Amino acid sequence: MPAQAKGEKVFRGIGVSAGVCRGKIVVLHRARHIIAKREVPENDLAHEVERFEQSLAQTQKQISEIQNRVVQSMGAKEGDIFDAHLLMLADRVLVEEVIKLIRGQKLNAEYAFHTVAERYITVLSDVEDDYLRERAADMRDLTVRVLDNLLEVKDAFDLRHLSEPCILVGHDLSPSTTAQLDKNFVLGFATDIGGKTSHTAIMARSLGIPAVVGLESVSEELENGDYALLDGYNGIIIVNPTDQTLFEYGQLAKIKASLEEKLREIKTQPAVTLDGKNIILSANIEGPADVAAVIAHGAEGVGLFRTEFLFINRDKLPDEEEQFKVYHEVAEALKPHPVIIRTLDLGGDKFASHLQLAKEVNPFLGWRAIRFCLAQPEMFRAQIRAILRASVAGKVKMMYPMISGLDELNQANTLVEKCKAELRAEQIPFNEEMKVGAMIEIPSAALIADALAKHVKFFSIGSNDLIQYTLAADRTNEKVSHLYEPTHPAIIRLIKATVDAAHRHGIWAGVCGEIAGDPVLAPLLIGLGVDELSAAPPVVSQVKYIIRRLKQSEAQALADFALQCESSSEIFARCVELARASAPSLFESKG
Ligand code: PEP
Ligand code: MG
Repeated sequence: MPAQAKGEKVFRGIGVSAGVCRGKIVVLHRARHIIAKREVPENDLAHEVERFEQSLAQTQKQISEIQNRVVQSMGAKEGDIFDAHLLMLADRVLVEEVIKLIRGQKLNAEYAFHTVAERYITVLSDVEDDYLRERAADMRDLTVRVLDNLLEVKDAFDLRHLSEPCILVGHDLSPSTTAQLDKNFVLGFATDIGGKTSHTAIMARSLGIPAVVGLESVSEELENGDYALLDGYNGIIIVNPTDQTLFEYGQLAKIKASLEEKLREIKTQPAVTLDGKNIILSANIEGPADVAAVIAHGAEGVGLFRTEFLFINRDKLPDEEEQFKVYHEVAEALKPHPVIIRTLDLGGDKFASHLQLAKEVNPFLGWRAIRFCLAQPEMFRAQIRAILRASVAGKVKMMYPMISGLDELNQANTLVEKCKAELRAEQIPFNEEMKVGAMIEIPSAALIADALAKHVKFFSIGSNDLIQYTLAADRTNEKVSHLYEPTHPAIIRLIKATVDAAHRHGIWAGVCGEIAGDPVLAPLLIGLGVDELSAAPPVVSQVKYIIRRLKQSEAQALADFALQCESSSEIFARCVELARASAPSLFESKG
């Protein structure tokens, strides 16, 4: 009987590195260590401890070699990833615990080490902090290496034997394994576990290899030699794709390539509508590393620098000097374009584990952003001084997140004036004219925008929060995502009220939430009178593309309709209609 052709099967996960590839699958099976428990005779205990210490030294040497290779091939930042491994290896508390087990219970080194390491992994896996959870993966990686050395197992992940291009599939891919990937042979990879911020994902992006993680049990379901298509944009892997699927992906690739070409052509062009209305189009960043993408995608500066990312994933707060250097670097790199530095927005779903703040029942309604900063004036002062000092390096502006009322705004402004006076007294230069703005992301702020406008130089509407707070729909809870509607009439009226209040007081108003980067919704915002849009760098060119194919008068008509319409879905349908009519090519490529 002829073998039955296998049907197409789709596995869905999280796309962490963009791109599409297809090829044969190689499943990486980690060698399973058999960790036998042995009683070691009293006389041999010293030798057992020595064997353990030697395995640590050997592992350290191997990791340092990998680190050097990575630094040379990928850069210092990627090499830093192995610092965590080296720190864990040098952790005497862990080492002493193992030695105590060996000596105290007369245990063999691999059993003692495995016991202690597993305990560390369990503790790290259970913590809520994403950063610490990812350290569990580092610890697992390290454990395997030490055990390989103790048991004299050859690296089961030796990728030097790959002889033809393939897609790697594994339960997990450690950073050290990822560092060995050869782009000539590895077309892409897929793993059962992992998240967008894991080191493996970071490295896949640096290498430019399409990757999908979080596919649950893919490594057990696929076999060596299976043929698959991996889509890193949409986070899927399709095994045995049908001719139809391959054809559709082929078409998509052509459409994507031709759209990319069109977007490249307008990179240096302004974001201006067909009837001459100029929109400032800027980008959102999380740190200096994102500046290159801002420039590459043709944004006119940064409309939102989320500074909290400087404060998380580390052991202590960045001081004034450290912050100054970062802000200075960004301002200088973007000159003559502006950078709007948002003061710290910790809390909500962003926590700095080292601050060890008490858990709150409603963190999004709690001690977050400006509330937290005003309660920690010393910490806030260091940030404000750092921003003021950096203001001489370029076109620096500053804005406060989560303003709910006038008192908060006045308190923050008073602190800024105090910092300015200090710097003057210390004869430290800063830009006296640095513009300070407020984010409008709480309904109360939108409703009193007239009062707030008298005390700032601009507004930036944080629609991500404005939607969650207005519609009482947690932005991180998928169960209420159907209620999280950007085109809800209440949202449209609040944006309009904010923009009108700004203009009445002679200041400008932008939007820096995700809707600013959505080509379907950007025309509505322009129609509502928004002066600036700030979006993630990769979508800036798409927004520019639609602006350049749109008439302000059409956007205005859309906004007029939205302001008198009572239905979110009808408003959304009109937005889609205008966007598709203005820039059809943007929508052909949505796979
Ligand atoms: C927003 O709320 O829209 C915003 C831009 O800020 P964040 O997403 O950082 O809360
Ligand atoms: Mg916000």
